[in-house]
Amino acid sequence: MVAEILCVGTELLMGQVLNTNAQFLSRRLSALGISVYHQTVVGDNEQRLEEAYRQALGRSDIVITSGGLGPTVDDITKRAAARVLGKELVLRPEADRMVRERFLQYHKQMTENNRSQAMFTGDSQVLLNPYGTAPAAIVPAGEGKVIIHLPGPPRELEPLFVEAVEPYLRAYTGSVLVSRYIRIFGMGEAEVDMRLHDLEERGNPTLSPYCSTGEVMLRATAAAADEKEGLELLKPLLVEIRKRLGDVIYEIGEDDSGSLEKTCIDAFMKRHMTVTTAESLTGGLIAATLVEVPGASNVLRGGYVTYQSEAKTMMLGVPSDLIERCGVVSAEVAVSMAEGARKKLDVDMAVSATGVAGPGGGTEECPVGTVFLGIADREKSYAVALHLSGTRERIRTLTVKHALHALIREAEGRAVQNT
Ligand code: ATP
Ligand code: MG
Repeated sequence: MVAEILCVGTELLMGQVLNTNAQFLSRRLSALGISVYHQTVVGDNEQRLEEAYRQALGRSDIVITSGGLGPTVDDITKRAAARVLGKELVLRPEADRMVRERFLQYHKQMTENNRSQAMFTGDSQVLLNPYGTAPAAIVPAGEGKVIIHLPGPPRELEPLFVEAVEPYLRAYTGSVLVSRYIRIFGMGEAEVDMRLHDLEERGNPTLSPYCSTGEVMLRATAAAADEKEGLELLKPLLVEIRKRLGDVIYEIGEDDSGSLEKTCIDAFMKRHMTVTTAESLTGGLIAATLVEVPGASNVLRGGYVTYQSEAKTMMLGVPSDLIERCGVVSAEVAVSMAEGARKKLDVDMAVSATGVAGPGGGTEECPVGTVFLGIADREKSYAVALHLSGTRERIRTLTVKHALHALIREAEGRAVQNT
């Protein structure tokens, strides 16, 4: 099953509006297991639009349009499609009713040309639009193909697609898709790819990697007759992935909303444990990242931002002679920061971070990217040395992720490794 995205609007070609609809639609379609080989943008020009329709229908099963469903003369998306299909646009009573209702609701005056918003080919399946004045539609295009018209504004297109078009497409493709999201920290994309290469080339279930700073996510998707069959198909694949990647997997979730911070809060919540942070180069970012998770207040008691050496001494009781002797970026200071913070707030665990984020400030023995994490719980404390690289922003982001990962591993009673 192949879909094509056809975005209509001169404002897109002029660069006045970023084409977020194309990105949104492509992502959702790929999650549905529908391939997208082409995205096209056409201005508000009927001839070029008709040409684009012919080409799209020649090579794709589903053509999804965005924009140009409004009442003005430059809204030509439906008219051009009808012409290519050799059909007439007629007033569809259910669409007309919706448009009238919406105008009443918005206290707007309806004009004669607003009726054009309720015009579709006679065989179109009208999709009423609760988010705006333009109804959408699914238009049969011959040989089992369809054109799906969606409104341009993303705040209309996105919910309409999820609520009305996705169920239709699932029925159209005749299968359900069951996905699991495998989140990986501590192994690069290239290494993951090397270990899973052959699995990524199989047909069903499919396995696709997504990367972000320091992390890799794999989406495993099975197309099946129902959810149960989908899970059966996924099970051996997930076992194999665990076998090949092992310890670096920190979560296998049912949706793509997982994150290190969520897993971290979950891990502490499950064990009724509390935590604090003592941060230098991250300036509060570890705590702030944890606070993004609803329910963090059950876990994070508070945090310290101790940027200058004096603050480490005054707020956390790190001995000034220790800082002098070992250097502020050192395993010893990291441990002392974590121990001090843990004791002060009487929590089960503390994580600290001290390091050189750059761009300046690096030395030969302590170059930019040198970071020490300290971990302290009620029994023990130790440091983890990190050797990071990249911009200041990247080094700080990676430090946060390593700190969260260290907390997860400690909470789960697994050792943290030096990298
Ligand atoms: P309306 O009834 O609002 O006129 P419409 O379906 O006719 O809706 P357009 O007129 O083409 O849609 O676009 C309306 C607005 O939606 C644009 O000004 C732009 O801000 C936004 N928009 C259109 N297409 C896209 C796109 N591909 N990506 C992101 N935003 C878009
Ligand atoms: Mg418009």
